[in-house]
Amino acid sequence: MNAPDKSSKSAAIASIEHWIGGRIVPGNSGRRADVFNPATGSVSGQVALASSAEVDVAVASAQAAFPKWADTPPIRRARVMFKFLELLNQKKDELACAITAEHGKVFTDAVGEVSRGIDIVEFACGIPQLLKGDYTDQVSTGIDNWTMRQPLGVVAGITPFNFPVMVPMWMYPVAIAAGNCFVLKPSPLDPTASLMMAELLKEAGLPDGVFNVVQGDKDAVDALLVHPDVKALSFVGSTAIAQKIYETGARHGKRVQALGGAKNHMVVMPDADLEQTVDALIGSAYGSAGERCMAISLAVLVGNAADKIMPLLAERTRHLKIKNGLELDAEMGPIVSSAAHGRITGYIDTGEKEGAKLLVDGRKFHAAKAGAGCDNGFWIGGSLFDNVTPEMKIYKEEIFGPVLGCIRVPDMAAALALVNSHEYGNGVSLFTRDGNAAREFSRRVQVGMVGINVPIPVPMAWHGFGGWKKSLFGDMHAYGEEGVRFYTKQKSIMQRWPESIGKGAEFTMPTAQ
Ligand code: NAD
Repeated sequence: MNAPDKSSKSAAIASIEHWIGGRIVPGNSGRRADVFNPATGSVSGQVALASSAEVDVAVASAQAAFPKWADTPPIRRARVMFKFLELLNQKKDELACAITAEHGKVFTDAVGEVSRGIDIVEFACGIPQLLKGDYTDQVSTGIDNWTMRQPLGVVAGITPFNFPVMVPMWMYPVAIAAGNCFVLKPSPLDPTASLMMAELLKEAGLPDGVFNVVQGDKDAVDALLVHPDVKALSFVGSTAIAQKIYETGARHGKRVQALGGAKNHMVVMPDADLEQTVDALIGSAYGSAGERCMAISLAVLVGNAADKIMPLLAERTRHLKIKNGLELDAEMGPIVSSAAHGRITGYIDTGEKEGAKLLVDGRKFHAAKAGAGCDNGFWIGGSLFDNVTPEMKIYKEEIFGPVLGCIRVPDMAAALALVNSHEYGNGVSLFTRDGNAAREFSRRVQVGMVGINVPIPVPMAWHGFGGWKKSLFGDMHAYGEEGVRFYTKQKSIMQRWPESIGKGAEFTMPTAQ
């Protein structure tokens, strides 16, 4: 990892366009959105917002590239992925800098994001093995049966602001390696990384049209949702939109996986290692300013765990290193946008009104403390609430910011009941030294991704990512083997040859002979 260049290379405002058919295509809808550097609050770029006509062009480009790409032997598709992997490793820091500049997360965290995305590209390099079908010899005398998986055609990905590299990589490496052509619609808040990835894919030898980017907002998404040539949609974002995408996409005959919002609990048992638990809570609640779908936003403190933990937690929250993300020792950067900043401070106001005890108030953080030039950035400190109760809005709703709520319960059964009755079921974590408690918890908890003494249990590339309840609409998780299944359809073939065919028509249901 190289230290990022903190000099402001150019004050010019960048134009961020589409990528269609293997080249930059300037937006022509007449609509654009400002892209901000959240650390300074200044406008760094203007992103094109696609019209439905521009979406049509991108889908047509993908559709035109599909027959040849689908016919390309999987091992040759894998070789493009291997080359892409090499380029990604060379450009990791540049991608991370682009993330920090538009998202605000600290550079070291952005490097981690790129690395976790690269894991999926490594997984996709194994596509020949992943696409291998099943074969049964002699299902009846002289008859064999086998299955193969074939690509769907044009598939689209609609991604959120919080992981502009990793979340698109949950989708397109697997989709493309499996023989599909892809249209990515990234978040307009941090769109630059999408074009950097497109250029690297081209340099890796990906044929033009196999990967396309349409920048945009709701208009572009609505066009993708109803486009007859888009066969599958992968969405990651907030729950209300995930549900709409799932319902509308399905109504238009598409496969949909729509990953939604989250409210992740960390249950702390009284026997948990104190220091490890506090470290885990601080990192997972305030890392990336809480703008992670796997961030811990609720600590469920069992028995006397609260008395031991709260003072330490408050102390650490007050002393978070909140700085421009390009500083290598920064622990937390700014919030992505002024609107998100307003939403988060609104929740802190609400929590106070609801009667939760605000031990650390992030609203009091002064932007100037974050570093030179940060006065107008979207800054807030970490906030810590004690005495949160399940009826409160700050318990029920996703805040998606650096706000940790603590709730006290008498025992494990109460903790489990609390987690299981929450409408979200993305991630959960348990801190304990008791193996049996951990085993019981993992088996009974109604959440898709569970960590035992692991605060952010994001599954590895070959395991697949997905929550339960309102955190995922659809049947299949992102990446891993479920990702391969999502982006392919199974075909079963049964064959026999004339020598084994008996004389005469058969009018009964064929059975094994
Ligand atoms: P968002 O829902 O606002 O946006 C996600 C995508 O949908 C973006 O591309 C956006 O342009 C598009 N979009 C926005 N409004 C739309 C509308 N009305 N119709 C159609 N498309 C629309 O989410 P965000 O603020 O970018 O990201 C944060 C959210 O994403 C949080 O809720 C977080 O929990 C969730 N998230 C979930 C996961 C997961 O794996 N479950 C992962 C990352 C983020």
